[in-house]
Amino acid sequence: MDLGIKGKRALIGASSKGLGLGCARALAEAGVDLVMNARGEAALLEAAEAIRTEFGVNVTTVAADITSESGRAEVLEAASGVDILVTNAGGPPPGMWSDWEREDFIKAIDANMLTPIALMKALLPGMIDKGWGRVVNITSQSVKAPIGVLGLSNAARAGLTGYVAGTARQVAPSGVNINNLLPGIHATDRADGLDGGVAKAQGISLDEARANRVATIPARRYGTADEFGATCAFLCSNLAGFIVGQNILLDGGATNATI
Ligand code: NAP
Repeated sequence: MDLGIKGKRALIGASSKGLGLGCARALAEAGVDLVMNARGEAALLEAAEAIRTEFGVNVTTVAADITSESGRAEVLEAASGVDILVTNAGGPPPGMWSDWEREDFIKAIDANMLTPIALMKALLPGMIDKGWGRVVNITSQSVKAPIGVLGLSNAARAGLTGYVAGTARQVAPSGVNINNLLPGIHATDRADGLDGGVAKAQGISLDEARANRVATIPARRYGTADEFGATCAFLCSNLAGFIVGQNILLDGGATNATI
């Protein structure tokens, strides 16, 4: 399928590994030039070079913490005028409701709510001027169905979701579409970290923790970064112009809800 976005430019935050990398690869396959970001330079350079070799697109890398003001400024300098923005950053740590202090909430809100909002605020005007743009925010299944131990994530991502619901409708008349992609469990380092925490808390092996989780997913497996990236690339495509302000769940059926 021709996604109609060959030659466009995209910024993908937090994209040296995992779901961000899946999105970067799928956009590159569609012929999109990329600005990729992560804190660790070695993995970022390696991922970027693999994409250049496989897909022949231009890739710029910015090794910086996208959740810090200075890191974001570096990223935005390289990404000025992009047509497509995929926002992403690491997720907050798990815990109990009673564990978290104000500073923990500020950190989570900075990373998973205010960072995507700052990136949109900086890059939407250029898209509006051109009359075409796409934004996909990587959020979480926890937006639709809360995950108790991820209270920081539930809270910060709910705030972003509310912001997007209104903003998407304000920019849609200019040909700019904003949507959120909600991952359920996917086989990435993040999933290993969460399963490791469960294994430790329950005194079981990592394999047992994974098997227990898989049993709760109707698809009976974890999602892959490639599947996630393919959905992201479709939402960024020319074919997705009528999808506005939606929250699209990729969870193998794990969220038991009719709508
Ligand atoms: P991951 O496999 O741990 O990959 C995280 C990527 O983000 C790496 O490239 C990492 O590189 C980069 N990164 C992390 N913090 C960053 C920062 N502050 N600035 C720039 N780059 C940063 O995570 P993932 O599974 O792809 O998850 C992506 C997002 O989806 C997270 O917010 C996660 O909470 C959410 N999510 C994931 C799942 C899942 O099952 N995987 C489910 C629901 C929600 P560096 O460490 O080098 O910076």
